[in-house]
Amino acid sequence: MGKVIAIANQKGGVGKTTSAINLAASLAALEYKTLIVDADPQANSTSGIGYNPKEIESSIYECMVDEVDAQDIIVETDLDYLHILPSHINLVGAEVEMVNIKNREERMRDALKKVRKKYDFIIIDCSPSLGLITINALTAADSVIIPVQCEYFALEGLGKLLNTIKIIQTRLNKDLEIEGILLTMYDVRLNLSNQVVDEVKQHFSKMVFETLIPRNIKLSESPSFGLPAIAHDAESKGAISYLNLAKEIINNNGLGK
Ligand code: ADP
Ligand code: MG
Repeated sequence: MGKVIAIANQKGGVGKTTSAINLAASLAALEYKTLIVDADPQANSTSGIGYNPKEIESSIYECMVDEVDAQDIIVETDLDYLHILPSHINLVGAEVEMVNIKNREERMRDALKKVRKKYDFIIIDCSPSLGLITINALTAADSVIIPVQCEYFALEGLGKLLNTIKIIQTRLNKDLEIEGILLTMYDVRLNLSNQVVDEVKQHFSKMVFETLIPRNIKLSESPSFGLPAIAHDAESKGAISYLNLAKEIINNNGLGK
C-alpha cells in the first residue's frame, strides 16, 4: 500500500508545488513508484511536470465529483516511476458542487483507494486554502508535510493549519500524522533565514525535517521546462536537497530498500 503524503499550507507561495514535484521526482529517481496528485485548481504541478492543463481532458475533478476511476485519468511523465493525476481549472467548482453530496470529505480517499496499491508513495499538492478539497486531501492522507518559507511571518497561519489538522484527526482521519515541517527557500547568507530556522526549530523541535531546502534558481526555473529540477539539472543544490528530503522520509518510515 502506498503511503499518501499531503503537502499543505493555506499560505500561497511557500513552496508546496515545488516540494510536491521535486519530492515526488526524487522518490521516483530512487525507484519508488510515485504518483503526484494535483489537488489545486491552479494546476501548477500539472504544468510543472510538462502537461498543459488546458489540454487535459479529465482531471481529479472527474474522480471526485463524477466518481470516474482514477486509473483512467492518471498519466505518465518523462520520468520513470513517476505518474500524475492532473488538475484542471474546473476543480474550482468542485467545492460548491460537492456541498450536498454524501461523504463529501471522503471523495479523494475513495478515488485513491483503487490505485494505492500500485504506488509506493502518493504525494498530494494542495491549494492555498483550507477548503473542502484540502480537507479531502488531509482525509485521504497518511501524513502531511507543512512547507514553511524562511521569510517574515513564517509562522503566521500555522496555528490555524495545525488546528484544522487536529479537527480532521478527531472527525475524519484519526491516523493522520505530521510527517514534518519543511523549511523552504533558505538563504544561508541572510540573518532572517537563520532566525526563522531557529524560531521554527524552537517551536516545533523534532517535527522539523533536518533537510533544509535552499533558495535555488534551478528550482524556480525548471517548471518552465516542464521538468522537475532533478531532470533539469541533477547537480543543482535544489535537486540535491529534495533528494536528501526523499531519503530522510524513506528512513523515517523504515522504507529503505
Ligand atoms: P505554493 O505551491 O506554496 O504556492 P510554489 O512552490 O509555487 O508555492 O512556490 C512559489 C514560488 O517560489 C514559485 O515561483 C517557485 O518557483 C518559487 N520557489 C519555490 N521554492 C523555491 C526555492 N527553494 N528556491 C527558489 N524559488 C523557489
Ligand atoms: Mg502551489
